[in-house]
This record gives sequence, structure tokens and C-alpha cells, in this order.
Amino acid sequence: MIGDIGIMDSFKKIIFATGNEGKMNEIKEIMKDFIEKYEIIILSLKEAGVDADIVEDGRTFEENALIKARAIAKLTDAVVLADDSGLEVDYLDGAPGIYSARFLGEDTSYDIKNTYILDKLDGVEDDKRTARFVCAIACVFPDGKELCIRGTIEGTIAYEIKGVNGFGYDPIFYVPEYGCTTAELSAEKKNEVSHRGRALAAMMGELEKYYL
Ligand code: IMP
Repeated sequence: MIGDIGIMDSFKKIIFATGNEGKMNEIKEIMKDFIEKYEIIILSLKEAGVDADIVEDGRTFEENALIKARAIAKLTDAVVLADDSGLEVDYLDGAPGIYSARFLGEDTSYDIKNTYILDKLDGVEDDKRTARFVCAIACVFPDGKELCIRGTIEGTIAYEIKGVNGFGYDPIFYVPEYGCTTAELSAEKKNEVSHRGRALAAMMGELEKYYL
């Protein structure tokens, strides 16, 4: 199907290079108005029938996002978006950073990962507990043009695990502005203020220039 569509139509199809269904639903929700306005079809890798084994060996979030987007763009005529995200803890010299998913082992529970970070910061004062979620989103167009945009949300590492919403490091990421962790925010609020929400909003702003 992808091979049958023209260049203008190929701009109407966006493949988001993720195999994570939860993330895909979050992205579709954030991009809902944009998708409707420009009559775009957005598909996950699975929905697009694209299968690829990508080695994310970049040194930054941006490099990894671009590696993923370029690899998928080679296999399709569609516009390809890809993201890479993680948690940077200043007291741990930016760890887990780009290794957030693999930190302490890919299959290790987040209860263990989060407790480990809390223990590492035991006794560390408020002003040294700064951290941020980072998300880089890359876009590769059918003509090879590339964009990459970063979104962040600043916060601190909490003193205890709190909240049940979200995933990953959310229960230990405290946002002073909202007085709670990102695991205590509603999905709607998190989408609005999160690193991914902000990066996607900025990316949609850029993409509008191509769709107007
Ligand atoms: P990915 O690049 O989106 O797959 O994210 C990599 C890892 O960063 C995830 O497996 C989580 O450990 C962490 N992470 C990214 N975004 C979030 C978030 O919004 N909340 C909590 N953890 C996150």
C-alpha cells in the first residue's frame, strides 16, 4: 500500500516508530486535533506492517531518535517520526539518561529502579535533587529532509515513591509547580506538560509549515 501512494499522499501518512502500544495511544491523543485538521493517518510500526531491528547506539536522545527515524524511513514512503526519552538525575551525573530503559537491566522492575535512585539520593538536600525528563522527537520526510526537537520537564527526585498513574520513573519524579509526582497527575495533564507532550507540540508546530 505504501508503495502505491503519491508524494503528496505520502505526507498524509505518518509512521511513528514505536512498538509500544501505550505510547502510541498517548501520541494519538496528543496529536488528535492535528491529525483531524490535516486528515493525516498515523500508524505504529505494527499498524504499518513495518518490522525492523534497530540498534540504538547513539550518544544522545537526539541521535537515538534520528537513528530510529532514518532506519524506518528507508523502509517506507511515509513521513516517519521517532522519539527517544529518559530521566536525567543531576546528582547522578545525568544517569540513567539515554540508558533509562536499560538501567539496572531491561527486565528489572521500576520499583527496584526507583528505590535504587531514592537510596542513592538518601540524605541529599532539596537543591541537589534536580532532575528532568527529556524527549527528543525526530522526523524524516520522504524527500530525506530531517527535523529533531527536544522537550523537557524539570523537577526533583522525590523522597518516596508516590502515585500510580503513568509508568517508569513517574512515581519518583516530583514537579514543584504541581506539588506532586508525575505519577499523581491525570493522563490529560501529563500529556499537556510532559517532555513528550512538549516535544510533540513543538514538532506539530514545525510540521504545520509542511501541511498548510
Ligand atoms: P522511551 O525512549 O520512550 O522508550 O523511554 C525510555 C525510558 O525512559 C522508559 O523506559 C522509561 O524508563 C523512561 N521514561 C521515558 N518517559 C517517561 C515518562 O514519561 N515517565 C516515566 N519514565 C519515562
